[in-house]
Amino acid sequence: MPMLGDPVAAEIAAERERFPQTPRRLLHSFAAPRYSRYSASTIMTSYCKELHLKDYDIIGFDLDGTLLRYDLTNMSALIYKVLKRYLVENKGYSAALLDLPMDLDFLQKGLFLDGPRGNILKLSSEAQILRATHGTRQLSDQEIVAIYGPERQWAITTSFYKDPLSTWNGAASEQMRSLLDYFDTPSALVFAQAVDVVDKQSGSQPEEYEVWRDLQAGLMHIFSRDHFSNDSSLYFKGMREDTPKYVLCTDSCVLDWLSALRKSGKKLFLLTGSNIDFANMTATQALGKNWREYFDFVVTYAKKPGFFTIQRPFLQVDVRELKELANTELPQDAGVLKPGEIYSQGNWHQLHGALAKLLNKETAQAKALYFGDNIIQDVYTPVKHRDFDAVAIAEELLMEEKNYPYFAELDSQLWGSYFAIGCQPTLWSNFISNFAQICVPSMKELAQLEPAQRIVCTNPYGFSPKLPKELETVNPTSCWQGGTGSAQ
Ligand SMILES: [Mg+2]
Repeated sequence: MPMLGDPVAAEIAAERERFPQTPRRLLHSFAAPRYSRYSASTIMTSYCKELHLKDYDIIGFDLDGTLLRYDLTNMSALIYKVLKRYLVENKGYSAALLDLPMDLDFLQKGLFLDGPRGNILKLSSEAQILRATHGTRQLSDQEIVAIYGPERQWAITTSFYKDPLSTWNGAASEQMRSLLDYFDTPSALVFAQAVDVVDKQSGSQPEEYEVWRDLQAGLMHIFSRDHFSNDSSLYFKGMREDTPKYVLCTDSCVLDWLSALRKSGKKLFLLTGSNIDFANMTATQALGKNWREYFDFVVTYAKKPGFFTIQRPFLQVDVRELKELANTELPQDAGVLKPGEIYSQGNWHQLHGALAKLLNKETAQAKALYFGDNIIQDVYTPVKHRDFDAVAIAEELLMEEKNYPYFAELDSQLWGSYFAIGCQPTLWSNFISNFAQICVPSMKELAQLEPAQRIVCTNPYGFSPKLPKELETVNPTSCWQGGTGSAQ
């Protein structure tokens, strides 16, 4: 790990001197390359990114995929199974869908569903379609161009690339879905196999597929918070019946690290989209029954990314009954939030004010850092729309480790690397590079370091402890002619 006094650190210091008024993030955003096949390699090697926890007063954490990790073998299989059952039992799909095998090679985080066409897309750093399937069948380059044009772009995913939140709700969300975390990845295979079944039954391709709409209803059904308390979701039922089968125990070094951060005077908060009852179940399994005690504030059912951008009120939570209390909207005043409490929904503006109060600082002076695995909800939104820095968690970085147990779930010959295909970085490498302060494989990676230690990346993209091997071979001066090694 580079230390103070090394050439990299000196380079950053020189950069700071040249641009003393430039906020840290702006330095990084132009330090991070705007990927292009014409990028100069000199740009990519001139700067690097760093993380120094000393710079932050407030540190926030996502829960799923961040402070707790899932057994991806068991969880992917559970979600895959219950979504298929939903389509057959509730939407009239052929029971033949249930017999189709779970092809792990099809799974990958970060794919996009093109609902109307029944296609699945993998995008480049500038939103060109690198690879695609119709149902489970891989499309050739010629087919991709015939469907999406010589630019290999779909207007809706290009809008997502320019402004992900513009496609979050409304008409775009009825046609397109970005699969941003491991809760989402099995949906791609269910979607693809359901499209295959529809094609087989009708003998031809319909003008517009209904599969995404049906699958969306299935996702809402299995993940709806009410269906945890009334036990009507097979997903929640499975999780509740055998939580240790799905939720890994968080390494004790992470818990010690959280305690050390608090002891050093930082204010910590947990911000999760899960409802209080489900969050309590998974957090108890991963962090222990005293999980609340690691944080100054806990916010559940936070509705990210809106939490960061909208002034939604906080609601009170009954911690004994583990439920949000209806009609308890709190006034939009930082003073009403009490440390040690759990709140539901809410907004960053108010929470930031409450945390600053604990620090006896002006809100604008209380600098915040957020850790999360969902690149749009946890990294892009707080960094782009609020004055945060963020650390991205990409478990895909663990695939290079020997004996990583979920290699089969994350590796895909069909889709290629999460980070790059050939000389083309993916959309996600681009977002990580442009918006994350750094990107690490897991919280454990950081928790093994002293909280005071400064992390300086040896690459300008921000990956730590090292660049994924696929990005090492990105050759900025050659290559992408529109072909991606996809089926011919
Ligand atoms: Mg998460």
